[in-house]
Amino acid sequence: MNEIKMVDLEGQYHKISTEIDKAIKDIIHTSTFINGEPVRKLQDKLAAYVGVKHAIACANCTDALTLSLMALGLKPGDEVITTNFTFIATVEAIALLRLTPVIVDVDPHTFTIDITEIENHITPRTKAIMPVHLFGQGARISEIMEIAKEYNLYVIEDNAQSLGADYRMKRGQKKKLGSFGHISCTSFFPSKNLGCFGDGGAMFTDDDELAEKLTMLANHGSYQKYFHEEIGINSRLDTIQAAVLLEKLKYLDEYNCTRAACAEYYDSKLRDIDWIEIPFRNPESTHVFNQYTLKFKNGISNAKVQNYLKSKNIPSMIYYPLPMHMQKAFKPYVSATKKYPVSEELMMQVLSLPMHTELTKDQMDAVVDALLSYTE
Ligand SMILES: *Cc1c(COP(=O)(O)O)cnc(C)c1O
Repeated sequence: MNEIKMVDLEGQYHKISTEIDKAIKDIIHTSTFINGEPVRKLQDKLAAYVGVKHAIACANCTDALTLSLMALGLKPGDEVITTNFTFIATVEAIALLRLTPVIVDVDPHTFTIDITEIENHITPRTKAIMPVHLFGQGARISEIMEIAKEYNLYVIEDNAQSLGADYRMKRGQKKKLGSFGHISCTSFFPSKNLGCFGDGGAMFTDDDELAEKLTMLANHGSYQKYFHEEIGINSRLDTIQAAVLLEKLKYLDEYNCTRAACAEYYDSKLRDIDWIEIPFRNPESTHVFNQYTLKFKNGISNAKVQNYLKSKNIPSMIYYPLPMHMQKAFKPYVSATKKYPVSEELMMQVLSLPMHTELTKDQMDAVVDALLSYTE
């Protein structure tokens, strides 16, 4: 049995190495390293895949989130409601622009933003909601869009972890996550479901004006070279990365199915264990399992289980060990009286198991055997 890894990027590469190598070589031969044809082609394919009019590639998802807030014209002091249980980038983008992140607690089952908390925190200064589609499935985006409509707020979906998942709307029609908000953002960081060979990201929108603005801001605030409308940033996707992504996008649905099948296999072995809660599924969303995350019951500590697994050479990760409201960097934005009971429990309960497209049954059996031999 091969070494068990959290993600196996090399194994995934080997299966399509001929196509990938050729795609990279072609770019080197044309030397169109910046803004080459594959970037435009990828944008068209991504937009069609997600089911929106425009996709704009950029350097990473952190930039995508930042650019989205800039394009919507938010000003210092404007409040953006977002989730406490996420990767730092979501809240970081808000704070970096001197907007005010309003960090709220999450649902104890899906770990995504608690929608009653959203409504409780709307003030006259609230301008936007930034939900995160966590670990591969949707936050309750239909309801979030309704709240946004009622209070006239923007929605930016952080879809870094859930590209390819479908979401069922109230009337039954299905749409891809990332096609609901005014803008959505995704990441091509290597370990994401569609990963490139470095950093990469993209923004999605149905709005023609916003699409132009996002493109302009990502390109030094310029529509025409050397003429600058606004203060922007330099955030491009390298042509080589676009070429890699064009090859890998063909396999994204297959990759996501493989992940879901691995998740079901883990489920079948762990479902009946009294101290383990298998990943809860939001009934409105499909799940593309960027992470397969367990929640331990009966006071079992995730850190202790992680150490135990490590002693048996089984990798695992705690996503997330410190919710946003406890991060030193965000101290100025957190009120001393506000409570986050759900995330403060989750940080001690959750553990993500190895999950990737190359996992074998033997490897998953080894993970499960090690896990189930744990005693306190
Ligand atoms: C990975 C991730 C990001 C940041 O993506 P980068 O491309 O690394 O900037 C943002 N939000 C979430 C939820 C993520 O998981």
